[in-house]
Formats: sequence, structure tokens, C-alpha cells
Amino acid sequence: MADRSRQVAIVTGAARGIGAATACRLARDGMAVAALDLTAGSCQATVATIAAAGGQAIAVAADVSDSSQVARAVDTVAAELGPPAVLVNNAGVIRDNLLFRMSDEDWDTVLGVHLRGAFLMSRAAQKYMVDQRYGRIVNLSSSSALGSRGQANYAAAKAGLQGFTKTLAIELGPFGITANAVAPGFIATDMTAATASRLKLSFDEFQADVAAQTPLRRIGQVSDVAHAISFLASEGAGFVSGQVIYVTGGPAC
Ligand code: NDP
Repeated sequence: MADRSRQVAIVTGAARGIGAATACRLARDGMAVAALDLTAGSCQATVATIAAAGGQAIAVAADVSDSSQVARAVDTVAAELGPPAVLVNNAGVIRDNLLFRMSDEDWDTVLGVHLRGAFLMSRAAQKYMVDQRYGRIVNLSSSSALGSRGQANYAAAKAGLQGFTKTLAIELGPFGITANAVAPGFIATDMTAATASRLKLSFDEFQADVAAQTPLRRIGQVSDVAHAISFLASEGAGFVSGQVIYVTGGPAC
């Protein structure tokens, strides 16, 4: 069995929100972490937090929807930290609008970052995982995969990620690689703050509304999602593959 302390993890969209929390959590779990986002500068705070806690991390720049940038970034991680064993496809954007107002660009941008991004990152990372006969891929889906007004693009991408995840589990399983998805509900981040503003609600008001409708009577925190990802990224989760774990404070539907 591989030595967990030497494992290298890549977390996309690690500059803030769930990605930053996940990068810090995996570093605390003993992994060397590549914090990847659109610019390396935007990941400096994540890297500094990890270093201050005694962990190892580097910042890597790439647009996950750009094939050559992704290939270069994954090779850079392998050269600087070692071959990646863990990949968390977390980078995301929203371009919410009702279907009749949704532009081609709104559709393409969201599908490009979430779905194409996860595809490109997984394809680039899997060769290192296959060589190691070990890997953990965790994709960020969402409870929006079940349908979400104003989010036809996002819901399609997040539902697509579930099919993508299950297919990776089938294709990569023979090489000791698991693939799973985490599907959060409402998590307090800049992304949900932007949704509140689209709905013309204060963020506090929006959070209180969602908490009241959630069985656990609270909204989710980034640490809730990072904890689920930490489990799926662990060696001990080696017989869990092709699954979608909803982190929603109750049944997802
Ligand atoms: P944030 O908007 O807070 O962070 C997303 C990060 O992804 C940002 O740092 C952003 O960079 C980066 N990013 C965007 N586009 C790209 C790109 N093309 N290449 C590389 N990095 C990129 O999001 P959250 O932390 O809220 O969400 C993280 C993931 O979790 C997303 O996939 C989201 O869909 C999913 N999720 C979130 C939920 C929530 O309630 N917050 C619920 C369910 C799922 P920049 O700042 O430069 O734009």
C-alpha cells in the first residue's frame, strides 16, 4: 500500500471556498497539495495557510477548461511534488439565468469549466495514477443536479458529472483508482453569496431561509464538504467507487 504521507493531491479552484478548505484539509491529512486556480497568485493564501500549519503545498495556474494549460499544470505538479495520486475537480462558476434568457456563452462557460474541466483534469492525471496503480478522483457535483430553477447550465453540468464519475469508476477501477462525487447542498461561499444577490436577498436572509428548510436546521460550511472529500480521498475508502455522496443536511430530494 502506498505511503499516504507522500501522496500528492491536486485541488482545482483552490483559491477560495470549498477548494481552499479542501486543500487545507488534505494537507492536514498528510498530503502534499497542489492548489490550482486561474492564477497562482490567487492561491497564495491557501498555500500560506498550509505552510503555516507545517504542510507542503504549491500554487499552480491553469484554466481547467483549456487542454494545453491543464496538461502543462499536471506535468508541473508531477515534476515539483511528485506524481498525483488524488485529484479533486472542484473549480466552478455560475452563470444563472432562466432558460429563455440564457445565452450561448452562459451555457458554454458553465459546461466548459465544470464538465470539460473535470474531463481534461482527470484525463491528464489518470496516467500518473495508472502508473502508480492507485488513485482517488473526487468530483464536485451538487444537489442542483436534481433540477434547479435558473440553473439549466449548472444543473446539466452537475448531473453530467455524476455520469462522468460512474464511468471513471468503471474504466479506472482495474488500476486501483476510485472515482466518486460529492454533491453539496447550500454551502456558505462566495458562490452562494452571488446567488443571494441574483435573488435580491441579503446573504443572511438567504441563509436563514435555506436553514429553515434543511432537516439539520443549518446551512453547510466548507469544512462539511472538505470532510466528505477527505474520506473519499483516503486510502481506507478504497472499496467505495462510483458513488455520489450528498452533503445536504438531510435527504437530497
Ligand atoms: P467559489 O466560487 O467560492 O470558488 C470557485 C473557485 O474556482 C474560484 O477560486 C474560481 O476562481 C475557480 N475557478 C473558476 N473557474 C475556473 C477555471 N476555469 N479554472 C480554474 N479555476 C477556476 O465556489 P465554491 O467554493 O462555492 O464551489 C466549489 C465547487 O463546489 C464548485 O464546483 C461548485 O459548483 C460546487 N458546489 C458549491 C456549492 C455551494 O453551495 N457553494 C453547492 C454545490 C456544489 P476565480 O475566483 O478566479 O473565479
